[in-house]
Amino acid sequence: AKEAGRDQVRFFEPEMQARVEARFALEGDLRHAVERGELQMYLQPQVDAEGQIQAAEALMRWQHPQRGLVPPSHFIPVAEETGLILELGEWAMRETCRLLARAEAAGTPIRMAVNVSPRQFHRSGFIRRVRDILAETGADPTRLTMEVTEGLVIDRIHQTVATMSELRALGVHFSIDDFGTGYSSLAYLKRLPINELKIDKTFIQDAPSDPNDAALIDTILAVAAHLRLNVVAEGVETREQADFLTRRAPMLYQGYLFGRPEPAEGLLERLAAQQVM
Ligand code: C2E
Ligand code: CA
Ligand code: CA
Ligand code: CA
Repeated sequence: AKEAGRDQVRFFEPEMQARVEARFALEGDLRHAVERGELQMYLQPQVDAEGQIQAAEALMRWQHPQRGLVPPSHFIPVAEETGLILELGEWAMRETCRLLARAEAAGTPIRMAVNVSPRQFHRSGFIRRVRDILAETGADPTRLTMEVTEGLVIDRIHQTVATMSELRALGVHFSIDDFGTGYSSLAYLKRLPINELKIDKTFIQDAPSDPNDAALIDTILAVAAHLRLNVVAEGVETREQADFLTRRAPMLYQGYLFGRPEPAEGLLERLAAQQVM
């Protein structure tokens, strides 16, 4: 048995080592991504029932010189583990605020949502950093939404409420991302000064055919109505899904059916065209 165990270790070693090396290479490259200007901000529209763009979510992309476009699912987890998310998150906040100011200057003001990781949110000085970025970019804080996940709150309800309240006083909105996939209790939710719930795409995909997902969505909508929160449905890909949601409650829709994440310039141009119509 001992021999077999050793053989097994040997057998897996090269593959594991290759994985570890690949991860270190990625991490090394990620350290330079901001300074080399390899990060890009994409925007994905959030539309109302009439199909009008009401807001957009800012989603990071990494244009690597050799690897090509690296999706966030590859590098955000590495960034979280290594702490690089602090730098990436600050870049995302600044870039989103720049885009907010640009949209406003172009006469097409719009709400934009940026993802904020728990580490970034709970880092000391977060509020000051946000204030600095708002001042530096001239962005209107009342058009900025911060998307946070339910994991933010664990063990830190007081700190979370305090930080959110200070930013809310500036006019910033808060949205709970991937709602329903975490473990937030309704008691916590009630205490948070939030404005919006985002229904995770995993519930949207099968909702028209799966009674369990449909029931879950109805529960989320009931909670949102009770707490007077806006709702955004994420990952709407089909007309059937959109119709299913439209029958239930007013909300914003975000998904491939209405527009994929695209370079910010493209969406800002479409906004300008929408306003003319
Ligand atoms: P998320 O915040 O839940 O963002 C929604 C994800 O769903 C995005 O993936 C978006 O492209 C994708 N999506 C939108 N509509 C559809 C659809 O109809 N069908 C399907 N299948 N997917 C759809 P993306 O851009 O790959 O980002 C993945 C995750 O990476 C995000 O999930 C977020 O957690 C993280 N992320 C992205 N940008 C940032 C950032 O600037 N900061 C932080 N901390 N995290 C970010
Ligand atoms: Ca999000
Ligand atoms: Ca999600
Ligand atoms: Ca997420």
